[in-house]
Amino acid sequence: MNQNITACGQKINIGTRVISWQEKAGLVCPNKRGRANCSHHDPKLNDAPSRQDAAYKIRKPESAYAELVQHVHQFVLHYDACYSSLHCHQLMTASSFKGSHFYLDLDGTLYQTCDLYWKTNSAPADDQQGNERSVHVEMANLAWEALARESEWLHTDRDKYQKKKGRWVLSLPAAYRKKIQTAGFQTSPSRTYGERGYFSRKINGRVVRMWDFTEEQYRALIKLCIGVNHLLPAIKLQVPFDNKSGRHPLDRLKNYSKYSGILGHAHVQKGENGVARKYDPGSAFNWSRLKKTFEKHAKS
Ligand SMILES: [Zn+2]
Repeated sequence: MNQNITACGQKINIGTRVISWQEKAGLVCPNKRGRANCSHHDPKLNDAPSRQDAAYKIRKPESAYAELVQHVHQFVLHYDACYSSLHCHQLMTASSFKGSHFYLDLDGTLYQTCDLYWKTNSAPADDQQGNERSVHVEMANLAWEALARESEWLHTDRDKYQKKKGRWVLSLPAAYRKKIQTAGFQTSPSRTYGERGYFSRKINGRVVRMWDFTEEQYRALIKLCIGVNHLLPAIKLQVPFDNKSGRHPLDRLKNYSKYSGILGHAHVQKGENGVARKYDPGSAFNWSRLKKTFEKHAKS
């Protein structure tokens, strides 16, 4: 069972299940690009259109790795606003340019969709250079699509999370439920907020109401962050935190293009220069859990 993540053929075991794009059950990034700041590939791969998989060759993987380590300093976290990672992958495949290096499914299963050497288009950021400096993970979570009254593209008449025997449970369409790797997996939020269950905070000007990610997702995500930091050390094991207020900022950061570490899509993209305003990974995301874990990890 593979537990490795890969950059320029360099592998590291992160201690949790990772389904690689090379496995039979793998999901292959449909829209890879070359990074403009890396030179060990055909530069024609830097622009659209997407090409056949065989076209994506890394010349001199060792030198390519050294280059990648120098240029990639952000790990950007996203929610996918989908039912599951398979659903997210279907949307990426239907698009002519979208992709993400990793998907994190509801049950904590990780998918790596291509070598980290390649660029995937998940977050242009406000300077439109975001994908050049980043690795991305799309984490399965419906965000406000789970709320009947706020759902936009997955419209339903009742909230997609319902309380059953005191526990909030997500009802997934059978087509997606059956494809989750863990048989019979029940999707429940790691934390809940009061009676209503969902969290609510303002991000880049919009109130984002959403149920939390699952416990399995947090555990796998933390292992993934540590692994990504080992492979690409310019991605420091830290998350945005304001020492003055003692809070994790949720809005776009001032120095977003320079930040070296793990951050959210919303931290790099409030919607300038023609890019869309973003809110993910959203109001329920537990930034302080990541901060505490990384601080412990640094001491050990
Ligand atoms: Zn995003």
